[in-house]
Amino acid sequence: MTEELYGDSNLKQGDKDLPENGPNKKAKSKGYVKELQNDLKILGIYFSKIDGNFGAKTKQAVETFQWNAKKIKKRIKNNSIVNDPPVYTESITGIVNPTTKKEIARWLEKSFKATGDLVRVNESQFSNIEIGSAFKKIKHLHINDGEIVISGEIIKYLKYADSKAKALSLNIVINQAMRVNGQKVTGAVVPPAKKSQHLIGHAIDCNIVDGDIWNNSQIFANGKETENAKKFIAAMKKEGLRWGGDFTNSDTPHFDKQIISVIDYKYKYFFNQRMISENQKIPLTTW
Ligand SMILES: [Zn+2]
Repeated sequence: MTEELYGDSNLKQGDKDLPENGPNKKAKSKGYVKELQNDLKILGIYFSKIDGNFGAKTKQAVETFQWNAKKIKKRIKNNSIVNDPPVYTESITGIVNPTTKKEIARWLEKSFKATGDLVRVNESQFSNIEIGSAFKKIKHLHINDGEIVISGEIIKYLKYADSKAKALSLNIVINQAMRVNGQKVTGAVVPPAKKSQHLIGHAIDCNIVDGDIWNNSQIFANGKETENAKKFIAAMKKEGLRWGGDFTNSDTPHFDKQIISVIDYKYKYFFNQRMISENQKIPLTTW
């Protein structure tokens, strides 16, 4: 059995490492907060001062860790991406309780660092989905030509879209998937004001090409879209995707699997944008 981290009580906001020679002799602290901050820094989740003061930034780092441990199935290990099906199932509290301590200890032992859930898919994986000429490749050390970058959660929808397009003899031409936000994501978690699903890798923009007919915004605006385009859109919606043509500001090329939870969006945004801005490895998906 490994010894429990940071003493035998919970650590939470307001806790402080008191000076060793300070007036409070019965200080429970033996530098536990500093230890915690240092560990969270090693895990790639804490960016502030190692000051022994469990303030708002330390709490946010603990929440960020708890969210990632619970929701993301991959970790960085020795600069590669490894699978790590979540074992942490508790709430996101910002309190370092025995379960959180155990999870931190597990990551430290395995030399894990936190990452997001972006994956790369080469267009050659698809039969009826391709990358359009307007598609802008994301600047990143590990993204190549012909690759779409998307959240791992979206793969099953892309596969389904491909099979549906094949069945309907359509070509789906993708113009955008994951979008990089202007600001660089390196430090703390700051979600954008406008919560685009593209910024977390949960959306694609595409044209539905039916023979010679490009079902573009103009065609939809005139109600001239092809029958098979309608069938394709209906099938995608039935799978649980939103279609931008239903939005108040109609956006017919757009499909997304919306993350509604503000918390989930915030952290997924942080980790997936950071995968790009820090050039973290993005696994290539094949099937
Ligand atoms: Zn879009």
